[in-house]
Amino acid sequence: MSVYPILQTGIAKTGVVGLLRGGTAGPEAKTLAIRADMDALPIHEMNDIEYRSQVDGKMHACGHDGHTSILLTVADILSKRRAELAGNIKFVFQPAEEQIGGAEPMVQEGAMKQVDGVIGLHLICNYEVGRVGVRSGPVFAGAHRFVLTVKGKGGHAAMPDSAVDPIVISASVIQVLQTLISRETSPFSPAVITIATIHAGTAFNIIPEEVVLQGTMRAFTKEHQDYLLRRISEVANGIATAMGGACEVGLFDGLPPCTNDPTMTELVHKAAGEAVGEDHVDAGEEVMTTGSDDMAIFLNTVPGCYFIVGAHNKAREVGNYPHHHPRFNIDEDALPIGVEVLTRAALEFLQQ
Ligand SMILES: [Zn+2]
Ligand SMILES: [Zn+2]
Repeated sequence: MSVYPILQTGIAKTGVVGLLRGGTAGPEAKTLAIRADMDALPIHEMNDIEYRSQVDGKMHACGHDGHTSILLTVADILSKRRAELAGNIKFVFQPAEEQIGGAEPMVQEGAMKQVDGVIGLHLICNYEVGRVGVRSGPVFAGAHRFVLTVKGKGGHAAMPDSAVDPIVISASVIQVLQTLISRETSPFSPAVITIATIHAGTAFNIIPEEVVLQGTMRAFTKEHQDYLLRRISEVANGIATAMGGACEVGLFDGLPPCTNDPTMTELVHKAAGEAVGEDHVDAGEEVMTTGSDDMAIFLNTVPGCYFIVGAHNKAREVGNYPHHHPRFNIDEDALPIGVEVLTRAALEFLQQ
């Protein structure tokens, strides 16, 4: 038997995986992975707190430092109880969640090998501390970035009849894309299409050659995602062609939705109820977000549950700013709650 825990570093560049072999774990014993993302964001922190970022222009503005602290504490607690564990725990510290570049290479490099289940949490600052949200099925949306290059024919702004104006074509494309949500998507299947950037033109008297639009699409099932991606292409191409232009469609950074397994969800729900009381556990729409998370990659590899832990404290006015804001902060009372839910769920998983 090897020393404990068995540590792998440099996975997906800076990822770390620690394997804790239970003291009574046989060769057929189960393994649970617990994942925490570690990365910060390129934001200059404006908080004046003792744990403020020490690196200018880089900030933990999504709570991933909290996730890392929680998982280190869980690793410490379970390591001390190793003798009584009938299975194994893999502690997965993941880099590059925000750039959606960490989970995939970690899975490719074997982080989920011989793993039977995976759990993880996200601290949420517009969700009250003391509450835990656990829900079966899709919880974080799938996300796709798209780039539409609308091509026309440039010319003099005073003589539009001798040009094909890609700006007017783009205006129609943007309008009609919104009808995919309002007219083609069931009111019971949430989805988002946002055009977030428009770039075109050099002067007031020139019709440009092309317009580049960038946007994001969010949906909660793969079928819905596939449908909307197809329709974005069809609508953009169809309108551009009908108006005498053309459209190149590029799709990037696709992430599936985070979809929770019912059995793993039940396990985490029970642990959450024991930690904060059943009446402080939510399973409704408040657990869902149109934000995305590459935990989805782990959840697509092994059955698992991704849940949320409240980090807003209304009374103390902590956590009043949204995620990715220069004044983002968490109520640290959320940390022991995260530790307890993960630890209880891990112990329960290994006992089953
Ligand atoms: Zn984030
Ligand atoms: Zn995050």
